[in-house]
Amino acid sequence: MFQSAISSKINNTSYKKEVNDKLHWLDKRYHTLNYELRKIFGEKVFKLSLDGGFTCPNRDGKIGINGCIFCSDKGSGEYASDRNLSIQKQIQYQINILKNKWNGKKYIAYFQNFTNTYAPINILKEKYETALSYKNVVGLAIATRADCLDDDVIDLLEKFNKKTYLWVEIGLQTIHDKSAKFLRRGYDFSLFEEKVKKLREKNINIVTHLILGIPNETKEMMFESIDKISEMDIQGVKLHLLHIIKGTDLEKYYLENKFKLLEKEEYIHLICDILERLNPKITVHRVTGDGSKDTLLEPWWSLDKRSILNGIDKELKSRNSYQGKYFQKTK
Ligand code: SF4
Repeated sequence: MFQSAISSKINNTSYKKEVNDKLHWLDKRYHTLNYELRKIFGEKVFKLSLDGGFTCPNRDGKIGINGCIFCSDKGSGEYASDRNLSIQKQIQYQINILKNKWNGKKYIAYFQNFTNTYAPINILKEKYETALSYKNVVGLAIATRADCLDDDVIDLLEKFNKKTYLWVEIGLQTIHDKSAKFLRRGYDFSLFEEKVKKLREKNINIVTHLILGIPNETKEMMFESIDKISEMDIQGVKLHLLHIIKGTDLEKYYLENKFKLLEKEEYIHLICDILERLNPKITVHRVTGDGSKDTLLEPWWSLDKRSILNGIDKELKSRNSYQGKYFQKTK
């Protein structure tokens, strides 16, 4: 039902013109989330980062107790609201902050911290419903792990997918199992592939997180991750620079091993190389991380997000390039 509303929007004139304008997505040379949401909702849509009060099997002992090596005690959601507040209060709080900067009218409730499908079905249902019942919340984004998508969870997600705009985020980080072991992700790539297939059978959109700069990952390995994601039935990607967050096990590892971190110019070039290979149909939700200066140890240059985004725009322009320029369908 909701999908057909989207299709009719996609068929509409201004969107067609933008696409026909050839490989520019509004003001960008890559397929941004802003572009995608404007296409669907006709205006800018804002995400509200929520903490649903969940935990994670990689922390509570089911799979592990230390979590992914880079994960902070906030469960990889540095900007989400206070988990002690109700979902309604978190939503209101986030809207109030946004209102100081933007006159937004539509929001996506983003369950960000920890694993947001890791609870009994009735609890998940109640949390998602509460967020959706809020005026002007037009969609749900749910961050989770591939090993927390059992059939009953996917059935529940399918129900929500039929009544709202929804995507599921999976923190894959890399397709390489050796790197995933270093990160302590806790499951293999084959499980991710299996869950992607199951989610897509229910028409549920998937956003995958990838981290760039994992120790011992070469540029070729990062390209392999991008090429694999590009050929899968995946709708969005979040590209993160590896951040060393204070208090994490990655900080300890970094201080002991002093592995090489990516430099700013190197990262900008790498992102442009990656965008050129990425399937143009895939929406790019992020091209860098969102570190907080209070908790970030390195790389400090990443705090100047504006300059990174401008650097990417400038580099793509100087190459006369765009997302998907070198994407090749293998099937
Ligand atoms: S899956 Fe997410 S919340 Fe769990 S340990 Fe890894 S990064 Fe942290």
